[in-house]
Amino acid sequence: MMINRDLYKKYFTQDSIPNWVCPTCQIAVLNTTSEHFIFEDTAITKQSWNEDWFDPDMARYTYTALFTCSNPSCKEAVASSGFGSLEEEYIHTPSGYEREYVSYFRPLFFHPPLKFFQIPNDTPDNVKKAIEASFSLSFSNKSAAVNQIRIALECLLNNLGIPQVSNENIKSKRLSLHDRVELLTHKYPKLKDICLAIKWLGNSGSHCEEEMTMDNVLDGYEMMSFVLDELYDNKHERIAILAKQINDKKGAK
Ligand SMILES: [Zn+2]
Repeated sequence: MMINRDLYKKYFTQDSIPNWVCPTCQIAVLNTTSEHFIFEDTAITKQSWNEDWFDPDMARYTYTALFTCSNPSCKEAVASSGFGSLEEEYIHTPSGYEREYVSYFRPLFFHPPLKFFQIPNDTPDNVKKAIEASFSLSFSNKSAAVNQIRIALECLLNNLGIPQVSNENIKSKRLSLHDRVELLTHKYPKLKDICLAIKWLGNSGSHCEEEMTMDNVLDGYEMMSFVLDELYDNKHERIAILAKQINDKKGAK
């Protein structure tokens, strides 16, 4: 599944709220109003406005907002908070260009967390839980979000019955996540390379020097979504049954 990356990577304005999908019904987008979207200068900005050196584009905000699902039978309330800044822009008018300051925002938090992809219903609970934990961290702590995908992979291998220890020698040896992913070669050849990439990404997220980006997180989500769809989404099976019913009847079932 391809994720619309702009939804999660771009700054937004109050007039251009991204089409974030409601995490509860997963059908409709979230809306907000100016009464439900509050922002204020940070302390340092408040102290600096009257200084000679201060430029409006140095202003920083903290925002808090309440979004509501636009699906009339859901109307879920979703809280969000984050930060913002003021940007100078030139607006084209009949008399030339006019300077204007526009407030841009970026989220750090949503509750309930946004769902970046649909987790198939038959996915084991511990895998689901690790992915949901990742979703809740994706804006605020990208390394932790990537790490949670790695944990989801470990849970997944446990559910697939991939051994955690090797008994090849007399002494049993604890297998690394890498060794365990290699064991997918025979039964799940299509998934092995993808799981290996998830593992490498998770490793990068665990090192102090490596700064994770939203693209890294979304790469992990796209790969994990593919793996789960292959294992736990019975879409192919459903379509095959439907086709068989129609073919058997040689017409609409
Ligand atoms: Zn909804």
